[in-house]
Amino acid sequence: MNYVSTRNNSVKVSAAYAIAHGISAEGGLYVPESIPALTADDFAALSKLDYKGKAEFILKKYLTDFTDAEITHCVNGAYTGSFDDEKPAAIAQLGDKINILELWHGPTCAFKDLALQLLPYLLTTSTKKVADGKKTVILVATSGDTGKAALEGFKDVDGTEIIVFYPSEGVSPMQKLQMDSQKGNNVHVCAIKGNFDDAQSGVKAIFTDNETKATLAQNGMEFSSANSINWGRLVPQIIYYISAYCDMLAKGDDLSNGFNIVVPTGNFGNILAAYYAKEMGVPVNKLVCASNANKVLTDFINTGVYDRNRNFYTTISPSMDILISSNLERMLYILADGDDKYIADIQSQLANDGKFTVKESILNKLQTLFYGACCDDNGTLKTIKDTFDKYGYLCDTHTAVAVNAYEQYVADTNDNRPVVIASTASPYKFAKSVISALTDQIPNSEFDTVDALSGLTNTAVPTPIAELKTATARFKDIYEKQDMYKAVCKCLDIK
Ligand SMILES: *Cc1c(COP(=O)(O)O)cnc(C)c1O
Repeated sequence: MNYVSTRNNSVKVSAAYAIAHGISAEGGLYVPESIPALTADDFAALSKLDYKGKAEFILKKYLTDFTDAEITHCVNGAYTGSFDDEKPAAIAQLGDKINILELWHGPTCAFKDLALQLLPYLLTTSTKKVADGKKTVILVATSGDTGKAALEGFKDVDGTEIIVFYPSEGVSPMQKLQMDSQKGNNVHVCAIKGNFDDAQSGVKAIFTDNETKATLAQNGMEFSSANSINWGRLVPQIIYYISAYCDMLAKGDDLSNGFNIVVPTGNFGNILAAYYAKEMGVPVNKLVCASNANKVLTDFINTGVYDRNRNFYTTISPSMDILISSNLERMLYILADGDDKYIADIQSQLANDGKFTVKESILNKLQTLFYGACCDDNGTLKTIKDTFDKYGYLCDTHTAVAVNAYEQYVADTNDNRPVVIASTASPYKFAKSVISALTDQIPNSEFDTVDALSGLTNTAVPTPIAELKTATARFKDIYEKQDMYKAVCKCLDIK
């Protein structure tokens, strides 16, 4: 299986190369040349395997230049002992149709752990194959959850350094403390004055700058990325949608007419993984793309116009406060039937004018696959309360956006198929917002709030959050957004 760049598909590389480099030299993203289809026999075999077995099975379809032993090593390293009950993707059922796919039972209590526990293994295996012994420098831009999950995944991994940039005012207090208190000898955390898009654009600019690359090479280093622009981030996410399908079959759900998947979306990564699962043969009907007040994707799906020239809102679902959804480029490349010139063109329009319009044929395909819906913070809070009142189920602010979008979808279409709603974070990661949906007695401190939420809802505080109570901040630097390169040099101790 080869990978091609979305902006120049004469660039063809191995999986190891794609994962080691993260992004193609001309700025395109790597996509697999074709999507492997699973047969009925494959699904029968998958249904007998545990999560790790399923992961190996699926990774072998995509990482054809990895040996079986390497894949086993990666999967065991990632998924042994790091998730509650060895179940990275458990389903909680609400009523008879709704399956909440809880993806937050890992070390940082958000879904990104599922990919970021595995990525360091995929990456170090890949760099051994292609990067001639250079040290890998991981640059991360985060809206909160990626940063911590990447830090946990990469801490003290030999041959790597990791630098995380986050918007100083754009993450929750819990996320901030999680990152600023990170342990490990190869980890660096920098706050910047700006929003997530500033952080992401800054990282992309550093990443693709030839002079910077040369400076790093002179110092025996090379960049790679742990953001979802890296294929090694996306491929692990396909696994849990296939696992969810197997689990629904096992509990006897009627899936004869397929089912729908709802994903709270920011960078379009998690929902793109659901699309890949569908293309591989999982009987998915609609993919519902849920957005918060930063509803650039809802508008895009409804009109075909992608326009980031709009107000940026800081919401209570900060991990979705994004106006440039990087992974959409992969989706559009597929919908444009691999027309790389077209993708390069619309991406340069996005870079120059902040805006592009897709042609009719692409919009039609997009609307057949996806339904877009959004809600603001009031809608999010109301959904948290209603879901708790109706089902006794407590969801976080991101998951609530998805539940809200699902309700809009059903009201609009009367489509009552079973549904999988991706639950992307523990409610305790966003305790202040979550508790404010249920009561106006809100304690002042973050940790008193966590305890109050637990008492009020009779749910348990996840261990990684309880442990933060005694953590102290190690990282305190705040940089101007134009000084990100300086920050990189300082962290890596290069001139
Ligand atoms: C990252 C994140 C999202 C958005 O996922 P994308 O892959 O960027 O679409 C949603 N919810 C939470 C809690 C997240 O951390």
